[in-house]
Amino acid sequence: MKFLVGNWKSNGNIKEKKRLLGSLNHLKPKTKVILCLPFTLLNDTKTKIALGAQDISLYPNGAFTGDISGTMLKDLGVKYVIVGHSERRRYHHETNAIVKNKANIALQNGIIPIVCIGESEIEHKQGKTRSVIKRMLLESVPEVGKFIVAYEPRWAIGTGVTPTAKEIESIHKIIFETLKTIHCEKMPVLYGGSVNAGNTTDFIDIPHVDGFMVGRASLKSETFVPIIKNMN
Ligand code: PEP
Repeated sequence: MKFLVGNWKSNGNIKEKKRLLGSLNHLKPKTKVILCLPFTLLNDTKTKIALGAQDISLYPNGAFTGDISGTMLKDLGVKYVIVGHSERRRYHHETNAIVKNKANIALQNGIIPIVCIGESEIEHKQGKTRSVIKRMLLESVPEVGKFIVAYEPRWAIGTGVTPTAKEIESIHKIIFETLKTIHCEKMPVLYGGSVNAGNTTDFIDIPHVDGFMVGRASLKSETFVPIIKNMN
């Protein structure tokens, strides 16, 4: 099965959520569509499309002002959570160890973590992508339990620039082989970074690409629905 994860980041409101979910209702996607919304829009998770969160606290319930714990997400019925998105790594200084810890906390609460990895533009230009990706992967994924990997080169997020299909193929092969060394090669691996309806058709059949993670294009039905249709 292919996966399509929409990441709304810090965008959207109740009206926009209703509008997008309404436009997805009549679709019968073969793809597993997961919409990762801000916490403020996760009040009603009994939707046809699976809803996910974009972060999870390192801490249990208690004196941790502003944090949303795994127990709280579980209570809401959230089934997926993004951990280690490049924006969390960059603006909140989240390390691989923190990401792994969050992934484990998600699993303890019955929530599947979507673990993001991806090299920076400098690392890409210096030819360090392979070593960076292997290390991020091995240090960020949980030891036991199900997870999803999202390979998102930082320089491709929100820029309109993507790697070539050949480059995506070669990195996804490395990810697959690295996952094999820890007996996790069955875990789905998504590509993310400036995905749109146009390039999904080029990328969907690449070996070891099990779907996509989409930011900007997931915000509106006009841009999200064509991606779902292309994946069917
Ligand atoms: C993302 O931030 O996860 C992402 C893929 O963003 P965009 O599709 O806007 O590049």
